[in-house]
Amino acid sequence: MTYIILDLEWNGVYSRKLKGYFNEIIEIGAVKIDSSLNQVDEFRAVIKPVFSRKLSHIVTNLTGIDEQELKDGQPFTRAISLLKKWICDPDAVVMTWSTTDLLVLIENCRHFFKDQRIPFLNYYVDLQHYCQTRLDYGETQQLGLFKACELLGIDTGDLENHRALDDSILTGKVFAGVYEPQSFNLQVRPAGTEFYERLTFKNVIISDIKNVHVKKSDLRFRCEKCNRRLRRIGQWRFCSRAFFADFLCGGCGTKYAARVQIKLKYDGAQTTRKLVQKPQEDCEK
Ligand SMILES: [Zn+2]
Repeated sequence: MTYIILDLEWNGVYSRKLKGYFNEIIEIGAVKIDSSLNQVDEFRAVIKPVFSRKLSHIVTNLTGIDEQELKDGQPFTRAISLLKKWICDPDAVVMTWSTTDLLVLIENCRHFFKDQRIPFLNYYVDLQHYCQTRLDYGETQQLGLFKACELLGIDTGDLENHRALDDSILTGKVFAGVYEPQSFNLQVRPAGTEFYERLTFKNVIISDIKNVHVKKSDLRFRCEKCNRRLRRIGQWRFCSRAFFADFLCGGCGTKYAARVQIKLKYDGAQTTRKLVQKPQEDCEK
């Protein structure tokens, strides 16, 4: 089995031609790891940008790449075909730290190849996600690469910050630190049509209460005290990405504020509901 860990650096530019922002990849770094989890090869390519030769200060400070290096770089399409040749094994599992790099790669392939499919990608694992499950880090916050190194006791000292190859070497060490065959195999995704559809799907917050994805049962609540069906007293309002309405219990007189958010994801609508008691205005005792 071959494992490939990929890291990219890009420069965010405004393109008049595209009438929008474009994340132009300027460097690709990768390492090849064998079945014994040893790094066996390295790949590095600097890409000559076509949108802007000027790097933003953020990119310069973060990566240390200078503009002369970029001038000597090669076209994106050539770098990708060299990378494909270097990967060699069509069954290789390609990994990145979070899907952000993958989305930028799709954006660049879409522009330069007129096809969003990544030419060398057949199997994929989001290593950040895998690492979070392995380290029981939870889903609420994103685990940074350096934090992962810290948790695994990996020394980051001798590596330059945020150059594509250095980052992929470091990511490779994290991979070796968390890898376990059974759990890893469950994370491998074949890069077919559904893979791209899922990856590029934009979640939508439903803002129209009459939308087909809003089920009647989503908007009904029961009293937390006496379990009676609550009566809505006032209209549903949409604000701050959710619906809000006030409710009253006909049995015990408790007033509630309800919040319902319906998010349309690739797999369908996902509803989150919250019911909060309102302070009693009058005490009847
Ligand atoms: Zn009640």
